[in-house]
Amino acid sequence: MTLVAVSKTRPAALVAEALAAGQRDFGENYVQEALEKIEALAGRGATWHFIGHLQGNKAKDVARHFDWVHGVDRERIAELLSRGRPAGLPPLQVCVQVNISQEATKSGVAPGETLALARCVAALPGLALRGVMGMASPSGDDAAQRAEFGVLRGEFEALKAAGLDVDTLSMGMTHDFPAALSQGATMLRIGTAIFGERRIEEKTP
Ligand SMILES: *Cc1c(COP(=O)(O)O)cnc(C)c1O
Repeated sequence: MTLVAVSKTRPAALVAEALAAGQRDFGENYVQEALEKIEALAGRGATWHFIGHLQGNKAKDVARHFDWVHGVDRERIAELLSRGRPAGLPPLQVCVQVNISQEATKSGVAPGETLALARCVAALPGLALRGVMGMASPSGDDAAQRAEFGVLRGEFEALKAAGLDVDTLSMGMTHDFPAALSQGATMLRIGTAIFGERRIEEKTP
C-alpha cells in the first residue's frame, strides 16, 4: 500500500517536514504551484504524482517534472505526455482515470472505455501503464462509496484479465479511504487527514 500525501496548496516547507519524517510520495493538482515545490525540493528523494485534471498545454511540463500521472482520461493527453517525456528519464507512471461516480463534472473515461485507453497508454514509449484511478461521489455514504470503488476494482481486474501488466488501484481520499481499502485500494491519496483543512481556496484548475 502506498500513501500519497496530497500537498496541493501547502507550502514547500511543510512538504520538507513530511520528507524529513519519511514520507516519499506527494500529490499535486496545479502545475505551476507544483513546479515551484518540485524545484525547491529537488534532490531530496520525493516522488511526485500529478493527480489533477490535465490540460494539453501543461502536458509537457508535467511530463518533464513529475514521476506519476493519475488523471489520464483521453488519448490525446496520453500522446502529449509520452512525446514530452525526456529520453533520459524512466517512463512516466500512468493511471487511467475512470469516472466511477458518473457525475458530468468529473473527468475520466466511462467504465466501458477503460481497456481501450489502457491499451493506448501501454503502447506509448514514454509511458508505463500502472493501473486505474477514480473518485467516489462526495455525497455518498459508506455503502455508496464501496459500490463505486467496486466498479473501479472491476475495471482493474478486467485489465489484468486482458493481459495488461497493472498493479495500481489508486482510490480513497480523506473522507472515503476506509471504503477504498475495503475494495482493495493499493494507493491512497490523502491530503486533509495529513496536513489539516486546506485554508487556501482551491482554484479551479
Ligand atoms: C485534493 C485531492 C485529494 C485529497 O483530498 P483530501 O480530501 O484532502 O484527502 C485526492 N485526490 C484528488 C484527485 C484530489 O484532487
